[in-house]
Amino acid sequence: MAVERTLSIIKPDATRRNITGKINARLEEAGLRIVAQKRIRLGRDQAEAFYEVHKERPFYVSLCDFMTSGPVVVQILEGDQAVERNREVMGATNPTDAAAGTIRADFAESIEANSVHGSDSADNAAREIAFFFKDEEIVG
Ligand code: ATP
Ligand code: MG
Repeated sequence: MAVERTLSIIKPDATRRNITGKINARLEEAGLRIVAQKRIRLGRDQAEAFYEVHKERPFYVSLCDFMTSGPVVVQILEGDQAVERNREVMGATNPTDAAAGTIRADFAESIEANSVHGSDSADNAAREIAFFFKDEEIVG
């Protein structure tokens, strides 16, 4: 059993529809523990820096517009193989491809407004956690 941490973001389409509790229930039912959480409004610079890896992609500007369009909930999830487990619970990026019962299949509005973000590797999880949280904000 490898206990890991991963970064999750509940995106503006989900905060707008007031379904953050429903999403948290899915995460907790999957065995993931929310060990840090805060509701924030991303600034333009923050969104651009967070998604810098996608800078050359055609959807980059629109994605940064979307991610700054309303509040988000950033959170650290802890659990056995948390990175992979969270990706399973989230489902595929495009909700039309997401497996039944996943968060994106049940809640996402579109490939862009797809309700949640989750780190895609242990290295990115560490980088993304440090991007949003100080050590003293994490209570495991
Ligand atoms: P995330 O990084 O948010 O967990 P992901 O790893 O499944 O999602 P990425 O390929 O990293 O997907 O894309 C990051 C985000 O960019 C997606 O979650 C989605 O919001 C948006 N996105 C990805 N592909 C497209 C696309 N073709 N058109 C519009 N938006 C897209
Ligand atoms: Mg990604």
